Amino acid sequence: MGQPSSQQNSASQKRVVIAASTVLDGKGHVLHDTRIVIEGSKIVAIDPKAAPVDYDLRGLTVLPGWIDSHVHIAWSFGKDGKSGSPGGTPAEVAYQVASNAWVTLMAGFTTVQSVGSPADVPLRDAIGKRQLPGPRILTSVEPLMGQGEKSGTPEQIRAFVRKQKDAGADLIKIFANYSVRKPDMMLSQEQLDAACDEAKKLGLRTLVHAYSKAVRAATVAGCTQIEHGVLATDDDLKLMAEKGTYLDPQAGLVWENYLLNKEKFVGTPGYPATLDGFASMESLIPMDHDFMKRAYRIPGLKIVFGSDAVAGAHGRNAEEFIDRVRDAGVDPVTAMVSANSLAAEAMGMASQIGSIAPGLKADIIALDGDPLKDITAVLRVVFVMKGGVVYKNAARGAIHAYAGVQP
Ligand SMILES: [Zn+2]
Repeated sequence: MGQPSSQQNSASQKRVVIAASTVLDGKGHVLHDTRIVIEGSKIVAIDPKAAPVDYDLRGLTVLPGWIDSHVHIAWSFGKDGKSGSPGGTPAEVAYQVASNAWVTLMAGFTTVQSVGSPADVPLRDAIGKRQLPGPRILTSVEPLMGQGEKSGTPEQIRAFVRKQKDAGADLIKIFANYSVRKPDMMLSQEQLDAACDEAKKLGLRTLVHAYSKAVRAATVAGCTQIEHGVLATDDDLKLMAEKGTYLDPQAGLVWENYLLNKEKFVGTPGYPATLDGFASMESLIPMDHDFMKRAYRIPGLKIVFGSDAVAGAHGRNAEEFIDRVRDAGVDPVTAMVSANSLAAEAMGMASQIGSIAPGLKADIIALDGDPLKDITAVLRVVFVMKGGVVYKNAARGAIHAYAGVQP
């Protein structure tokens, strides 16, 4: 009764030691032959002499759990296999969404930003209460869809932003235009100013889906981050760097997933009506690669990792790292940092996640391989700890231990 005794406290703050031969600290540094000490949900020390060792991850690459800045965690294929189809009972839909969260966590992503759906809220909260395994979720709830005049007056837009905050939004998602093929601005400068200003007053960040001219308009409006960004000029990107606006471009997974699952997307709202219509998507992939290469040449531009995972891509988020490194020439260290400390900084969470350092949450993963030498190692996630809880441990020693064989 009353205050928990110090004994109970120390029991819940169980000390765990991880031994590692290679640690990427999330900020671009590599530590060798050390030990990470965890108490409760947090890292408390990096101490090569810490003992006894609970998890021996030597021979693997240990790094902070990844952060995907742009997913659609509730987006699944319906019961008929089609994207966006309502099919399925509420329970079936809920289990599918829970499965999206589970496979994302197992793929090494311990935090995702979902942009977004009202269905994210109960999922976020259930995971937060540890009722379900999944990544930590930040959600925009319902996005503000730019639709020209119909988007509303600045006052109506401000009211919409407040409504999302009341519904539990962690950030605001804004569509300033439709797509790279229809890049006309669907929100005016005045409308964008209202949306990003209102969010700022509420202490919320703004992520703006923007191509072409909308990139500059959103930057001028003081929005936090630009999603996609293709067709922006070098001058637009330089302005972003100057103002500290984050950029979240993609290098392939989103298109590769549409092509892989075209039968499931064909004829659904926003997608080609015929399978032949998907051929033109292939031409967009090199465009994304060229844009990313160009963006990385802009000094000081802060580029975060976002896969834009929709139905069919949950749990495959890390394929986007391979696209970035292999196809867009991104340095592997930079690719890792974009999903660690830089993504955390963009979310205003750098003091909590994104690095391996004392005081931060114990979000720790291990890869069988070294992503700095072979980027495909990102697909071999063998250990996942989130907030000090181990959700996956398929490291070699552990497999032997489970089989009753001495390692
Ligand atoms: Zn998206």
